[in-house]
Amino acid sequence: MKSIKKPIVIVGAGFGGMTVASNLKRINPSLPILVVDSEANFIFKPLMYEVLSEELSMWETAPEFSNIFSNLGITFLRNCLTKIRFDEKMLEFCDDLTLGYECLILCTGSVSNNFSVKGVDENCYFFNNLNDLKKVKLFLQKIQNNKTKNNLFVIGAGPSGVEIACKIHDTYLNKFNINIIERSNEILGRNKIFNQEEAEKALERRKINVLLNSTVQEISDQKISILDNSEIKELDQDVVIWTAGVKPNLSYINEHVIQKNGRILVNEKFQINNYENSFAIGDISIIKGMEDLPLTAQVAMQQGNHLAKNIDLLFQEKDLKPFNFEDNGEMISLGIGEASISALGVTLSGKLAFEARRLIYSSKMPDISKSLKSAASWLFQKKSIINNFINNKP
Ligand SMILES: Cc1cc2nc3c(=O)[nH]c(=O)nc-3n(C[C@H](O)[C@H](O)[C@H](O)COP(=O)(O)OP(=O)(O)OC[C@H]3O[C@@H](n4cnc5c(N)ncnc54)[C@H](O)[C@@H]3O)c2cc1C
Repeated sequence: MKSIKKPIVIVGAGFGGMTVASNLKRINPSLPILVVDSEANFIFKPLMYEVLSEELSMWETAPEFSNIFSNLGITFLRNCLTKIRFDEKMLEFCDDLTLGYECLILCTGSVSNNFSVKGVDENCYFFNNLNDLKKVKLFLQKIQNNKTKNNLFVIGAGPSGVEIACKIHDTYLNKFNINIIERSNEILGRNKIFNQEEAEKALERRKINVLLNSTVQEISDQKISILDNSEIKELDQDVVIWTAGVKPNLSYINEHVIQKNGRILVNEKFQINNYENSFAIGDISIIKGMEDLPLTAQVAMQQGNHLAKNIDLLFQEKDLKPFNFEDNGEMISLGIGEASISALGVTLSGKLAFEARRLIYSSKMPDISKSLKSAASWLFQKKSIINNFINNKP
């Protein structure tokens, strides 16, 4: 085993970072790991809609990093990476802290992309992190008691747009006229056909208006202007939620790092070109030869799992193995108590899919079983039952 003087630093403790850290600790407890994140809480993004609808509480879907990492026996530092000096193996942080590393794993995820559309930053709500979730929830609660029905627009009919529209409908029955604006000619264009069809039915049942082939041109404090069949239309809006897409969160990276489509280009072992012992996974990276992988938690977690094994091999001075993605299917929530699943040849919708989705996600939550709070949570109780079952399996 190669001797290590400096830590393995993992920057970003979302789905990718959390998976590498916990797996690496399990595989080789003697390796010194330091996890850094700019936030205080993990956020289980696929369950953010359930917080909006109050099916789950905020703390259940956003446990504190300090709880998670003390449970795992891993050192956690809250700080924001601002610069990497790859040649010196040095990191710079926003409070002027500098830190050396033996091995660097970057997994800082995505931020909302406004695609340079005028007025988006000033007049829209986003739905990509814990802060966004708190702001949207607060605002919807505040305006639900307005005397007239509010015009609510969701921009983008990808999973986030469709899921949030259905949850808002079911949570605030008849308080909003809900509309989804989509640039292409279909909803969930990159998703499984079964989920696409189930989502179409769910939107229809809820009378959510979907405007296809409509491109947002500008958003002001009261209007949305859209281009629809070469005609500009102005729509009155009371609230706009922008779920049109994301871009990699790479404000700390310099131009010397090779990028593709704005993401860090890595090889199939996640290595960043020319820089020894530096890796990138999750939404910020793009693998040469696997450019079509979706930006999902499933991909980030599989990559994290694989990278943990490779880091162990690296310090045993053995060859690293290339990554292969296994598509385990996809799940989307479609309102309160409903979901749709298309996975490994099995399709499921309605209440059963909702229960299955929650159960599957509970098994993927980071562990906070040593925290008092976990006992009061459906999600964490189910997680502990699943863990006991796995650990006691013959
Ligand atoms: C509302 C929503 C619903 C989703 N639903 C699903 C779903 O159902 N299924 C699915 O598979 N995927 C889903 N996704 C996508 C999925 O969440 C992402 O693909 C996944 O989180 C990417 O993992 P990651 O590790 O790359 O980044 P993230 O999980 O986003 O983690 C990035 C971490 O890096 C930290 N960070 C960022 N910059 C810095 C910095 N400079 N210094 C220190 N720390 C930093 C952040 O605080 C964050 O904790 C959803 C996303 C959203 C927004």
